[in-house]
Amino acid sequence: MIRVLNVDGQKLTPCLLHRAWREVNRARAIWIDEQTIQLLYNPFSFREYRKAALKRDHYTCLWCGRPATTVDHIVPSSKGGSDLPQNLLASCIECNTKRGNRSAFSYLLEKVLSVPNSLKLCYRIIKAKHNHRRAN
Ligand SMILES: [Zn+2]
Repeated sequence: MIRVLNVDGQKLTPCLLHRAWREVNRARAIWIDEQTIQLLYNPFSFREYRKAALKRDHYTCLWCGRPATTVDHIVPSSKGGSDLPQNLLASCIECNTKRGNRSAFSYLLEKVLSVPNSLKLCYRIIKAKHNHRRAN
């Protein structure tokens, strides 16, 4: 078993080696020594981040302007995108599903005529991508 430390150094439930590697490969954790990883995010906070992102975006889908009930990762989790609000956009279920794993820019190009504020959305995407590159 691998020891797991929280962002602030608190001990969490230990995990198996392959899970530890998965977290590290996704840039969500770093090795402290051969037996220990430290998480770079707070695993308990996603619900809070999600709520904060929805509130910030006024519960309105940034892709189409309809009411939003979900959040969309700008840099997808599968590509190591973080769960922090800066990487999240309020999104309706339809846009979230339609975009799937495509890049935010390619979906923006497809939706550009229905996006209420494409400049704001474009800026958000650039900022999230920049933060992502800096963190990796
Ligand atoms: Zn939408």
